[in-house]
Amino acid sequence: MTRLLLHACCAPCSLEPVRLLVEEGFEPTICWTNPNIQPVEEHDRRLGELRRWCEGMGIRLIEAGEDRGRWERGVAPIGARDRQRRCRACYALRLAEACRVAEREGFTHVATTLAVSPYQLFDTCNDVLERLAAAHGLTPVIRDFRPWYPEATRRSRELGMYRQNYCGCRFSAAEAALDRARLRDERKAAKGAAHA
Ligand code: SF4
Repeated sequence: MTRLLLHACCAPCSLEPVRLLVEEGFEPTICWTNPNIQPVEEHDRRLGELRRWCEGMGIRLIEAGEDRGRWERGVAPIGARDRQRRCRACYALRLAEACRVAEREGFTHVATTLAVSPYQLFDTCNDVLERLAAAHGLTPVIRDFRPWYPEATRRSRELGMYRQNYCGCRFSAAEAALDRARLRDERKAAKGAAHA
């Protein structure tokens, strides 16, 4: 088994990557470092769910450093005007910490559960992981877990896990709320057209 440090954004998104990586012959240790999640109560709720799941599964969980001030200084000023740049900076902050931990703890491979969500910027995230892994002498394990997202949704519901409806930061909470409102309006308009 190859030891791998798996950065995890939450418990539901960890289910399928862990299963698939174990099938491939990796032994994942989970690393939590997500200072992007707001408010703090939401951060603690996601972490609590991950702790419970890791404990139940017998998976080691490393709770790494989280510098919320650094996120506010380095990511928040980009704001809502450029999601691509904002998320790149956010991935970089979190994955840099995961890579630091991986190097310190003697791991050779590193990956992230962000690669399961179709809502993340897949190519940007992989690019950031590749660069940071190289800088730390690690092998990035780049996998497209997105086809397993529906299965992750089904399993996490079945397990009664807490499932959030936005990525993490306050900008994503507002963007997700706008998306939901737009979809509601579109459904209403479609219904109206069908009855006209
Ligand atoms: S949308 Fe998600 S990845 Fe992007 S900045 Fe916000 S928390 Fe980070």
